Amino acid sequence: MKASTPTDVQTLLRDLPSISEVDRHLEAKGLPSGKPVRARVNQVLEAFRAALLAAPRDAALPGREALLREIEAAVSRPPPNQLRRVINATGVVVHTNLGRAVLTPALTQAAQALQHAYINLEFDLEAGKRGERGGRVPELLATLSGAEAGLVVNNNAAAVLLLLSALAAGREVIVSRGELVEIGGSFRVPDIMRQSGARLVEVGTTNRTRLADYAEAITADSVALLKVHRSNFTLTGFTEEATVPELAALARERGLTVWHDLGSGTFYRFSQPALRNLPTVAQEIEAGADVVAFSGDKLLGSVQAGIVVGRAALLDRMRRHPLFRSLRVDRVRLVLLEHSLLAYLEMERLRETNAVVDLLERTPGDMEWLAGRLLDALKPAEGRGLSWEVVRDQSLAGGGAVPEVRMDTLCLALQRPGRDGEALAADLRAGEPPIVARLQEGRVLLDFRTLFAHDIEDVAEAIRALCGA
Ligand SMILES: *Cc1c(COP(=O)(O)O)cnc(C)c1O
Repeated sequence: MKASTPTDVQTLLRDLPSISEVDRHLEAKGLPSGKPVRARVNQVLEAFRAALLAAPRDAALPGREALLREIEAAVSRPPPNQLRRVINATGVVVHTNLGRAVLTPALTQAAQALQHAYINLEFDLEAGKRGERGGRVPELLATLSGAEAGLVVNNNAAAVLLLLSALAAGREVIVSRGELVEIGGSFRVPDIMRQSGARLVEVGTTNRTRLADYAEAITADSVALLKVHRSNFTLTGFTEEATVPELAALARERGLTVWHDLGSGTFYRFSQPALRNLPTVAQEIEAGADVVAFSGDKLLGSVQAGIVVGRAALLDRMRRHPLFRSLRVDRVRLVLLEHSLLAYLEMERLRETNAVVDLLERTPGDMEWLAGRLLDALKPAEGRGLSWEVVRDQSLAGGGAVPEVRMDTLCLALQRPGRDGEALAADLRAGEPPIVARLQEGRVLLDFRTLFAHDIEDVAEAIRALCGA
């Protein structure tokens, strides 16, 4: 038998305001109304209707007034998918879903004036005619890496596609089976190879690839030995891989070149213990790589870009390939990248100019200071529904960048007695600005590694609000 809908639900449904009534109500309240918020209003209306129809028979049903309150709240805030500031409390410094690298005001302010002016983007001021595009970026890349040349494209995926298309179409590129990786967003090394027209020659096994495996695979059609950084997983246990110097020696002997997709490159030597042994791009070049490709917005801490450094003759061929034009970077980013690279010339000031470096270099003392400020700001809410304590933990530098790197950190562990962490985390995300936290064993962890000093008051306010204080 079909269950009948109680008539009071039908009455409530009939009583719901029409769109024009909603508009008049919003106008009277001085809130955004009409077309710009129509989709949001409809969303709330539909969800409200669905909730009414699904309500259990004896539940207290919300009515017209409750709906209007919900609509007011919905149009008072930008829609959840509108890009906005988010507080990253995950502890992951290079967080792809949260925009990867953050730029410092010092950097963007220096670059800002250029955004409002014409610039010599591809104009030679001395000759008075068309010049090379990209200002000092190629030159700075060469200086910072010690390589002969540098070039920039849209992102590192594009850099690898261009590299293979320009230098290896119709030829063989030798890659270890342990490095045939998939990077987030369906960047798969074998697929990129196929797309470029290069022929992939797989050598070794998933866990072990020896230099001899590469040597045996070389034919008259081989052009390069490609090394790919395993950016989002680690290989441990019974493993073996050939190093760049070994590959370089073999390549020289057999007339090939070595290319390294580094994923995350840096020009900076970190003092953070977990990153102290991370080779710089200059060390990769020094070790014998002929071409190194990496992202601008991972550890480098700049804008999205695919950066390539290496031998001038190889990079020239990449620059002349038709794909180069399709993958080029706009002026907005080029200016910011040039300023980021200029900042690398003053390494001792880098923590002031580069936010990624600053967060990764944070010391336990830096984080204790932030924790102290947050605890002070939370005093008024003590004992009012939520409990918290400062705990030691480890944060990740970046899941898709340096997966093995875990750094000691401090977190605020938050709990709401009797409720799971997921609900609390959702409440934090629903605030303005949204706070994205880490869940661990039913607790919500707010990691001081990625909280900026100016985030602390917003975090305190959000927690106080959840406590009703
Ligand atoms: C991240 C990464 C890429 C893709 O770089 P994007 O700048 O995101 O395009 C390619 N290869 C490796 C090894 C990576 O880690």
